[in-house]
Amino acid sequence: MKKGKIIILSAPSGTGKSTIIAELMKKPELKLGFSVSATSRAPRGCEVHGKEYYFLTPEEFKEKVDNGEFVEWEEVYAGTCYGTLVSEVERVIESGHNLIMDIDVKGALNVKKRYGQLALSLFILPPSLEELERRLRVRSTDSEESIRKRLEKAEYEMSFAPQFDARVVNEDLSTATEEVESAIKKAIAD
Ligand code: 5GP
Repeated sequence: MKKGKIIILSAPSGTGKSTIIAELMKKPELKLGFSVSATSRAPRGCEVHGKEYYFLTPEEFKEKVDNGEFVEWEEVYAGTCYGTLVSEVERVIESGHNLIMDIDVKGALNVKKRYGQLALSLFILPPSLEELERRLRVRSTDSEESIRKRLEKAEYEMSFAPQFDARVVNEDLSTATEEVESAIKKAIAD
């Protein structure tokens, strides 16, 4: 069976990345499989272990880092680590599915470096920082402090955009989804 490809999507929080991924997952012809990340943070709301994330204690997370069980991991927020387990990548691509990864910019660039031609890295950009701020406020699940932090982080993350294989601006959700879809189709045909 042909091994799957690795599709890496990165974007500042609030850019619509999760919605785009949800749309793409509905398309069986893309044969997408999702990698469940591990995190050292506690579950929020109705999140379930093994579904949104593998929720590990900070000690368990560190043990797996020391054992070389991660393809990549990052301390995304102070004191909170996220990472992709080698076992997850293998599980998905060995089954012939294309692994879609939703990870932060540094993790994304590390995975691209490790897997090279097997991976496609895409960066989703908001039309502008002002528009991103507006979207984060509309969503309004976050405190003022958290919105400010996310915006600062967004600006920093966007500085990495030129290092990705391709960039898609999410001005209009369905156009952005189509652009991402055609980039994926091209990559998996190779
Ligand atoms: P949240 O806690 O809001 O679910 O996720 C926070 C951040 O962690 C997001 O920016 C997300 O992209 C990042 N993240 C989630 N999983 C991984 C992962 O496996 N590796 C890395 N490096 N970042 C991740």
